[in-house]
Amino acid sequence: MMDVNIIGGGVIGLSIAYELVNQGLTVAVFDRQQFGQEASWAGAGMLPPANIECVTTPAGQLRAASQPLWPAWSRRLQEESGIDNGYLICGGLHLSLSEDVADWQSYVEDWHKTGTVVEELDSVSLRERAPFLSEQIQAGFYLPEMGQVRNPRHMKALLSACAHQGVVMHAGAPVVGFETQGEKISGIQTPSGVHRAGQTVIAGGAWTPEVLSRLGLQCELVPVQGQIVLLSMKHLPFRQVIESGRRYLVPRSDGKILIGSTEKHAGFNKENTAEGVAGLIAFAQSVVPGLKDATFERAWAGLRPKSIDGLPYLGRVDGYQNLIMAAGHYRDGLQLSPITAKLIRQLICEEELSISLEPFSCQRGIDID
Ligand SMILES: Cc1cc2nc3c(=O)[nH]c(=O)nc-3n(C[C@H](O)[C@H](O)[C@H](O)COP(=O)(O)OP(=O)(O)OC[C@H]3O[C@@H](n4cnc5c(N)ncnc54)[C@H](O)[C@@H]3O)c2cc1C
Repeated sequence: MMDVNIIGGGVIGLSIAYELVNQGLTVAVFDRQQFGQEASWAGAGMLPPANIECVTTPAGQLRAASQPLWPAWSRRLQEESGIDNGYLICGGLHLSLSEDVADWQSYVEDWHKTGTVVEELDSVSLRERAPFLSEQIQAGFYLPEMGQVRNPRHMKALLSACAHQGVVMHAGAPVVGFETQGEKISGIQTPSGVHRAGQTVIAGGAWTPEVLSRLGLQCELVPVQGQIVLLSMKHLPFRQVIESGRRYLVPRSDGKILIGSTEKHAGFNKENTAEGVAGLIAFAQSVVPGLKDATFERAWAGLRPKSIDGLPYLGRVDGYQNLIMAAGHYRDGLQLSPITAKLIRQLICEEELSISLEPFSCQRGIDID
């Protein structure tokens, strides 16, 4: 009998496991396949900044509370796993391309409202700061506090640190049912049998509705496919993240460049399309013309878990005293993983919550079938 069973071994499930085991709880994590192979592996790992003193929206609060946790998380994971997750503050350029941002001025204002440092750039200062950009781009702003992490390395570090701390890891263990006693979940069912625990956390990413359906619950959460193209160059002309609307370039320190991303409701399809790949490459070259000489490495797609309003479901599920949800982080699951883990730990350990979970209530999108 464990203290906590966690369903789903993506960045959310593993971060919660790591946080709980460090609190002295016994924890088991179950994944239907190998750990960390879905959205958490596929994402770009951008970590945008925000200032907790200034933010007013629930999304901004989560982001601002998560960002300062990254340096210590990364350090601790490296100490325990020996793996450098590639966390760094690299700065970020946001560019004004008319087709990407409809109202540039209010977009800039929204960034100012997050209380982070925003350096506005006209065509001259943009050229000085970023001579590698296409001359067609006339304006932008720079966020010196923008960060990034390398997803596959972060997942490896988390996995290794969880195993090192004694988290019981069940790979290839799909959760196919629940054992209940009145209003309590007493165990979860996998093909190898029933595994009992005092609390159950569902962190199943885009597959969360399927897991909840085993309890007769309906969950408003859909997969949103995102494609990414990977290029490489011997001598990278830029070191900062470059964004325009929902598309971006993320340079890694070894010369790799991620170009993301598309957004499509395509069910659980993770295939790359000619249109998606060509569109991303065309975008990258229109922003940084020097990328025409880059090498094409590969392309992939992942499934972002999107809730009813784009905010994650965090907290207890009505009808069960010991069932907790942490799913639906959509485009922000990597950046929000440290604060998600902290909040779920506070909930389980009955500590004071650092942020109210009201806006993230599961009752927004979970119903009895
Ligand atoms: C292209 C792309 C770019 C992105 N870029 C960024 C970014 O720059 N910054 C950022 O913060 N976020 C980004 N994201 C979003 C981020 O990747 C996700 O929000 C995050 O990975 C969600 O994590 P998760 O653990 O909830 O889901 P997942 O990583 O999908 O993990 C869910 C896990 O549950 C398991 N599972 C499912 N069903 C069962 C079952 N029945 N039993 C057992 N296990 C089960 C799955 O196998 C899977 O391993 C991006 C996503 C994509 C696709």
